[in-house]
Amino acid sequence: MHEVSIMAEAVRMATEAARKSGAVRVTCLKLRVGTLSGAVPDAMRFAWDVVCQGTEAEGARLEIEPVTAACRCEACRTEFDCADFINECPRCGTPGARLLRGRELDIASIETQDH
Ligand SMILES: [Zn+2]
Repeated sequence: MHEVSIMAEAVRMATEAARKSGAVRVTCLKLRVGTLSGAVPDAMRFAWDVVCQGTEAEGARLEIEPVTAACRCEACRTEFDCADFINECPRCGTPGARLLRGRELDIASIETQDH
């Protein structure tokens, strides 16, 4: 399962950040997940509960902020939402619009507790 390794890495980064700032626990992790990132939020939530066990992030809240994929047509500069990688411009019909966002898989914020 792809999401388990993603979440294991997220836990590693979150606990490392907590330790560096002198915190003892991670209380909340917020992720930004693009609709074309290939990661499934439900699977990520499930994986989170498993991978944070026994770490400083155990019991922490996981928030997933979805990022709707968007493209810009190079021909007419129209920006539009896109559901997959075949991006035909709805205004002028030019295919292959450039993806502006939607592949994010980032940590947006980490909340920690000092004691
Ligand atoms: Zn266009």
